[in-house]
Amino acid sequence: MKKLHIKSYGCQMNFYDAGKMADVLRPLGYETSETMDGADLVILNTCHIREKATDKVYSELGKVKMQRQKQENPMLIAVAGCVGQAEGEEIFKRAPYVDMVVGPQSYHTLPEIVSKAARKTGHVIELDFPANEKFDGLPQAEKTSASAFLAVQEGCDKFCTFCVVPYTRGAEYSRPVADIVREATSLVSKGAKELTLLGQNVNAYHGDGWTFGQLIRHLATIDGLERIRYTTSHPRDMEESLITAHAEVPKLMPYLHLPVQSGSDRVLKMMNRKHTIAEYMKTMERVRNARPDIAFSSDFIVGFPGETEADFEGTMNVVREIGYAYAYSFAYSPRPGTPAATFDNQVPEEVKSERLQRLQALILEKQQAFNEAKLGQEMDILIERKGKFAGQMIGKSPWMQSVYLENATHLKGQIVRVKITGAYTNSLSAIIVDSFARVA
Ligand code: SF4
Repeated sequence: MKKLHIKSYGCQMNFYDAGKMADVLRPLGYETSETMDGADLVILNTCHIREKATDKVYSELGKVKMQRQKQENPMLIAVAGCVGQAEGEEIFKRAPYVDMVVGPQSYHTLPEIVSKAARKTGHVIELDFPANEKFDGLPQAEKTSASAFLAVQEGCDKFCTFCVVPYTRGAEYSRPVADIVREATSLVSKGAKELTLLGQNVNAYHGDGWTFGQLIRHLATIDGLERIRYTTSHPRDMEESLITAHAEVPKLMPYLHLPVQSGSDRVLKMMNRKHTIAEYMKTMERVRNARPDIAFSSDFIVGFPGETEADFEGTMNVVREIGYAYAYSFAYSPRPGTPAATFDNQVPEEVKSERLQRLQALILEKQQAFNEAKLGQEMDILIERKGKFAGQMIGKSPWMQSVYLENATHLKGQIVRVKITGAYTNSLSAIIVDSFARVA
């Protein structure tokens, strides 16, 4: 067997893609390896979202190059993901030892690309955007864990002014219903109990004219599938059938990640988010009415160009009012090629960092309060992975909290009833009430 090391960065879609890359390369004799020591092929599966993403890729490539120089059989090196898509040929100029550059829509062509690169006839690059071919050409996973990802759409047409996704992942594409059902059924037959439906703008799903809510209802009929989640959503696409699915589909978990980014209408307009704060709050209220125990999470960008202290206070108010169970927050940093990178009213770094600290302190306070409210409650958790100590396992609550359990190794992959005995900022601890597997 040949050794394949994939290093993934960024979003869940990238981790899903890494699994698909491994599956598509397996027939060529590649087995995945945790380290790059002795690898025959290294793929850097890159992300363009974080600050200085491109610089980080070149620095990581430097490490791969050093490893290659140490090896008797020099490995092939590929750059995949959104930095690959955005940088293209530029990667070969700055790092000529890279053999392949492949964009996120072209992973189905990897066997061909790797075979070409192995012939050492020059650099190989594939950056086309045939999303339908990508999904058609990728094989079903051979194995899965109790909680699996399933991509239902890819790309985005929203063009928020800070975001690279429409440029790196292309236009919105929804997979056909039958393909999704086939993949879901296959994952469940291999042991998945929970599916997270993935997409850059997942609730824009419209495959075969179906709404996302219809798709969820249909997937919920699959025997053995016990939990459904989805991420990431846009507030504009919270259509009626999706909101009512939260009320009517018990398998749909009571957790919604609905990024708002800013609490100021002025900033939302500059971000091209296409909704106001009042509309966002209304949507949250409708979802909460549909599913009163629902937990919310969000993404926030602090210090977007032109953000004033009053705009930032608007963001703090949204957090106070919604009381998120969890939230991701970042200081704005310009992404090359996006409109906001050219805005001339950039906020000074020290102002961004001071606002970010205030926001994060408030988010953590709300998160802690959310976790503490679960103390003494019983709930069903899906036991997913080992903890740090012998016998300790970590499960996932319906609200995405990590729940620590002792002496539970034998319950891996099962849904069990527990009682919450400890609540912390980032996790809960619990004891088992009923170790028979049950439906959440
Ligand atoms: S909706 Fe999301 S993926 Fe699409 S452009 Fe906006 S931030 Fe990027």
